Amino acid sequence: MVQSIEHTFGVPVEIEPGILRVTLPLPSGPRHVHTYLVRDEDGWMLVDTGLGLPGPPWREIAAGLDAPVVRIFITHMHPDHVGGAEEAARLLGVPVLQGRLDYAQCERVWGSRDWPERIAAWFLRNGVPPGLAEELIESGHVFADFVKFAWNPTLVDPGDEIAGWRVLATPGHADGHLCLHRDGVLVAGDHVLSPITPAIGLYPESRPDPLGDYVGSLADVAALEPRLALPGHGEIIVGAAERAAEIVAHHEDRLDRTEAALGAGPRTGFDASHALFGRELPPIQRRFAVAETLSHLERLVVLGRAGRTDDGLTVTYTAA
Ligand SMILES: [Zn+2]
Repeated sequence: MVQSIEHTFGVPVEIEPGILRVTLPLPSGPRHVHTYLVRDEDGWMLVDTGLGLPGPPWREIAAGLDAPVVRIFITHMHPDHVGGAEEAARLLGVPVLQGRLDYAQCERVWGSRDWPERIAAWFLRNGVPPGLAEELIESGHVFADFVKFAWNPTLVDPGDEIAGWRVLATPGHADGHLCLHRDGVLVAGDHVLSPITPAIGLYPESRPDPLGDYVGSLADVAALEPRLALPGHGEIIVGAAERAAEIVAHHEDRLDRTEAALGAGPRTGFDASHALFGRELPPIQRRFAVAETLSHLERLVVLGRAGRTDDGLTVTYTAA
């Protein structure tokens, strides 16, 4: 099955009156990311900004609208969503709104020089061999040059209202991930995707149980029964509650397989990632595989289905 969708990049497409989608290219992964323009009473809000590649013609796009763009909202600090924020804000001359927790993590990861060393140390603790850890860091920082987030945005918090949109905390894919909800429309970021499922990884200095967070915040969103969800990748989602249930089932299956990968002897997250995702993976995918395996291992520990030992050097897991 072909999982990528044909897209015309940089051209607004009307989803319904008052909602435009502008899709931008990505050099890897799903090869595209969606941004949205949503009509508020006082003008248009741009949601997410793509990677910081040259090109999105924001001024030309804005010139074709019936009202000015008045604000930019960022769902989360991953490169393909926040990377173009500074440039979009400069071109449009509008403020950027970003979650308080999300912005703190954005600065820590993309705005600090010691992040590569901290994440390397963390990979080593989780069993990644030193040579490979270096490769994982390099592959992870391929994007760093293209992350031009907006410094000192207007900080928002869950529960705030922005032009009638309710700000929802939706941790999981990123700790500080936010969605917006208004009149049955969910601006979903990477919280609910179709047909791909959002990556749920454990990373250093992140919340301890991202998969538990994720399943909880999926239930919150499903309870709202949005009629339309606008995701960062893939297809527009009609019936987000059903899609949320499918994603939960996917993680339950992966939890079972993660549990099956454990035995009486200690295994690191890196070891277990081989059982789940195979031995042959390019570094960038191994990086996601280790992080995703760890989020499932930590969830199993919380559920009493696995044991965890940290001897100060290495973290290992055993069957419960
Ligand atoms: Zn994304």
